[in-house]
Amino acid sequence: MKIIEYFTQTKKTYVSFEVLPPLKGGSMQKIFDTLDPLMEFKPPFIDVTYHREEYIYKRRPSGYYEKTAIRKRPGTVGICASIMHRYDVEAVPHLICGGFTKEDTENALIDLNFLGIQNVLALRGDARKFDGRFIPEEGGHEYAIDLVKQIKEINSGKYLDHYIVDGAKTDFCIGVAGYPEKHFESPNYDLDLIHLKSKIDAGGDYIVSQMFFDNKKYLAFFEKCREIGIDVPIIPGIKPITRPSQLKSLPRLFYINLPLELITELNKYIDDKKAFKQIGIEWCIQQSKELKAAGAPCIHYYTMGDTQTIKQICEAVV
Ligand code: FAD
Repeated sequence: MKIIEYFTQTKKTYVSFEVLPPLKGGSMQKIFDTLDPLMEFKPPFIDVTYHREEYIYKRRPSGYYEKTAIRKRPGTVGICASIMHRYDVEAVPHLICGGFTKEDTENALIDLNFLGIQNVLALRGDARKFDGRFIPEEGGHEYAIDLVKQIKEINSGKYLDHYIVDGAKTDFCIGVAGYPEKHFESPNYDLDLIHLKSKIDAGGDYIVSQMFFDNKKYLAFFEKCREIGIDVPIIPGIKPITRPSQLKSLPRLFYINLPLELITELNKYIDDKKAFKQIGIEWCIQQSKELKAAGAPCIHYYTMGDTQTIKQICEAVV
């Protein structure tokens, strides 16, 4: 079933979860261990992130460094199929432009379609460490909008191989990313929203937001989207702060701001791990309740493997 169909059927606020593929050498059981305790909250869908190859530099005996590409978390297609098989829930693979030629993307879409996976989140992906800026694959896409357009093409039966006439039409429901605090590369907030609208006009069916900790910023983003004619469901994505190190790592990695009130409260318990975590959980519960009251169709939790914390939050919210 397409994700957006859930939101037209009922006005309730769902919860959904995002999981990371296990590190190479790990097993599918790791994902099941994360998800088993969360399925009682009846998520309509589970997202699976995609992680492209990274470069590492190995020092050789000569003293020179050897540049090697490694994939720490391979694949999402099999993981999505396993999730759907075990839980009878929609699994949403994240598809990225980085590292993919258009042919690679087409082949991935064909596999997803064969497996009955109908929903995808279309993303550009970040720059690789050491690249400094996002470099598209030769013969690949530069922006998420180009990926959305390719998915729409295959939905209408048009494949890259022009000898295919009357190709089978797929029916992918396409999610795209939105940034309540602006995408970090965008020189201007409104321009970023214009690009977001272009992704929707090109065929995006719904938006999932980057994490945020200040609901006021999200609600302003939501209003602005509606003002400029973005009328698709917008799903807020959130996570709790659970460790002192995240006070610095989350802003650094995700280019987001933390509200002063939250930082002040967390700082009071900086040496008390349990109390610190509890403040982060309560903040996330409060955020969830407000978003629910504001009519969010779904609250998407970035689990980051911390099942028990997300479970505790859902128990207070659902
Ligand atoms: P785009 O929509 O292409 O936007 C990228 C930048 O380009 C923005 O600044 C935008 O304003 C600008 N832009 C867009 N179109 C144009 C244009 N035509 N001309 C000029 N500028 C333009 N990354 C992963 O690697 N794997 C994941 O699994 C993953 N999951 C994510 C899930 C969510 C919900 C979110 C919010 C992000 C996720 N990311 C993931 C990170 C994402 O890939 C990065 O934030 C990336 O830098 C941007 O992706 P995008 O799809 O928003 O890109």
